[in-house]
Amino acid sequence: MAPLDMTPPLIVAIDGPSGVGKTTTSKRVAHDLQLPHIDTGAMYRAIGLAAVRRGISVHDADALERLTAQTTIDFVPGEPPHILLDGEDVTSLIRTPEISMAASHVSAVPAVRRALVRLQQELGRRNGGVLEGRDIGTKVFPETPHKFFLTARPEVRAQRRYKELIAKNQPADYDTVLAEAVQRDRQDSTRADSPLTFDDSYTVIDTSDLTMDEVIARIVDRVRCSILP
Ligand code: C5P
Repeated sequence: MAPLDMTPPLIVAIDGPSGVGKTTTSKRVAHDLQLPHIDTGAMYRAIGLAAVRRGISVHDADALERLTAQTTIDFVPGEPPHILLDGEDVTSLIRTPEISMAASHVSAVPAVRRALVRLQQELGRRNGGVLEGRDIGTKVFPETPHKFFLTARPEVRAQRRYKELIAKNQPADYDTVLAEAVQRDRQDSTRADSPLTFDDSYTVIDTSDLTMDEVIARIVDRVRCSILP
């Protein structure tokens, strides 16, 4: 019988506020380390979209709990990754300011978090992964030694988000983008269940004045150094 491979899957946690560059960074770190890239925000966005479509208030915790229990979310890693809501590919539908805000509200509901954290843990345990989110290193995979928290000044983050929206031909106004980013971060950092935060087990990287290549190199080098025999 072949020996069992007892090596635990490699998990890299990349947490941080909105617009800090987590998605591009995580995607390229995953590519360099040959791991799946798992965007956990997409899962909260899919529940946000489901709630908006059904006219469920994003503040109605009981209705959101029932909705989550009745809804199937599938995340299919790849380039690009796809997110399915009851089998429907909603990958591009979840990227609007309305759904960003809905996701932030529904993510404060403990039953929603429990269901999605379970899904994230199953995905990560299967093949490892670079998981991006808000609570990956604190709640989803607290045991991983590879935890990174990305920060950047709010104006820098709003500018990045604004450029992204313009590049996708979505209507955008810089001041509105900044105000929404600040509001979403406040909600995400002050909720009772799994707020956006970090502790001293994280490596914190302020990306405000770094290029994307520099941020990626720091993360990949650090992970590689810590797993070398
Ligand atoms: O990362 P993204 O902006 O796509 O996330 C959308 C929203 O989902 C966030 O504002 C946050 O409220 C929520 N989220 C979360 N925990 C995660 C990932 C995202 O609460 N691990």
